[in-house]
Amino acid sequence: MKETAKIADSCLKCGFCLNACPVYKELREEIVSPRGKLRQIKAFTAGELPSDKIIRKVLKNCLMCGSCFKNCPSSLATPHAIQKLREELFGKYGHDFIKRGMKYVLSNNKTRALSALWARIVYNNFRDSLPFDLPAGALTVKNMPLLAQPLKAVDFKNNGNKKVFYFAGCVDKYVFGDTGRCAARVLDKLGYDVMISEDEKCCGIPLIISGDIKAVKKNAEANIELLTRQYYDYIVFTCPTCLTAFKEKYYDIFKEDGVFKNKLAELEPKLIEITGLIAKEKKLPQLLGAAGVKVTYHDPCHMVNSLDTVKEPREIIKALPGVEYVEMNPELAASCCGSGGFYHVYFPETALKLGLKKVKNIKKTGAEIVLTACPACKLQIAGSLKRAGSDVKTMHIIELLDRYLK
Ligand code: SF4
Ligand code: SF4
Repeated sequence: MKETAKIADSCLKCGFCLNACPVYKELREEIVSPRGKLRQIKAFTAGELPSDKIIRKVLKNCLMCGSCFKNCPSSLATPHAIQKLREELFGKYGHDFIKRGMKYVLSNNKTRALSALWARIVYNNFRDSLPFDLPAGALTVKNMPLLAQPLKAVDFKNNGNKKVFYFAGCVDKYVFGDTGRCAARVLDKLGYDVMISEDEKCCGIPLIISGDIKAVKKNAEANIELLTRQYYDYIVFTCPTCLTAFKEKYYDIFKEDGVFKNKLAELEPKLIEITGLIAKEKKLPQLLGAAGVKVTYHDPCHMVNSLDTVKEPREIIKALPGVEYVEMNPELAASCCGSGGFYHVYFPETALKLGLKKVKNIKKTGAEIVLTACPACKLQIAGSLKRAGSDVKTMHIIELLDRYLK
């Protein structure tokens, strides 16, 4: 609480964060802006609020995109203050039924796999024959993609090459399994020895940002144990949000635990987002076949605001011979697509507006394909494009790379 109060207390009220906040830009209400949130947090920590009702609502109305932190001249960790208070309020109020369901599914690999199987059978067979459409967060059932076959475990070939553990995350494992397979193929084509494990567990981000740290600890411990069990040169991610869990959130979870803190420090230099690894390690132009498409790129929030990985995806796209790259203006490329963990479920109208704004900016570029580097952004953007009647395709960069890599 002290830490939270200190952050809230340090706000200069300058307002530089306002136009960086996608929620504020959409709603134009001071109370949901980063500055307004900090003011509420300050009042809450000082015991000045008559009830928790408004603060709970205000804290929920946040995408946890990190843009306020990035644009604050004092580098105030507003998302961290929001997170800490969510933890405290979770201790008091617990989860609603949506999050209870999500917790049940994500906490255990068996329930996760069974839920995905059930969803794949029911959804893939009935989506197109439904006589009506239903809302699904900011999207609708008919605008959601079909689920691909899940990504399977792969063992090392032990061919003497650099060893890479590919941490796929829930979405690229169970929804976009094809993206996961592309990532494994690209890493293989680039000469890495790749491993994918059935023992990888949900990184826990949806529950962490909901304040439920206790539920995540077991999964986090299992993931750290798995990744420190044997030697890897790199641990690679196609989901920047999963990587943020390891690089930021797990440190906070294990700050009092010397054993896991040390194991995390051991992992730290090996943790890398896939475009970051490829841009750093390989000379792509010699490896690529001709492409011949016009593309643009959407920056996922965590790539920009947490991982600082902005130039690497662009380097890879521009290295593809025959690809015409059209940049959205940088501010628009990095504006949130509206997904934000559970945000689109609780605030579908704002999330939809953000999604459609992104669609408008994509269309302006005239691109045939919008590339991104995050499975959640891919889901939200593809659904928003479909909802808007656009035939622009949405792909993870790694899918395009796989298509044109010799
Ligand atoms: S930019 Fe930082 S200091 Fe300025 S109002 Fe926003 S949070 Fe406060
Ligand atoms: S994390 Fe994003 S949505 Fe939340 S207050 Fe900051 S800028 Fe706004």
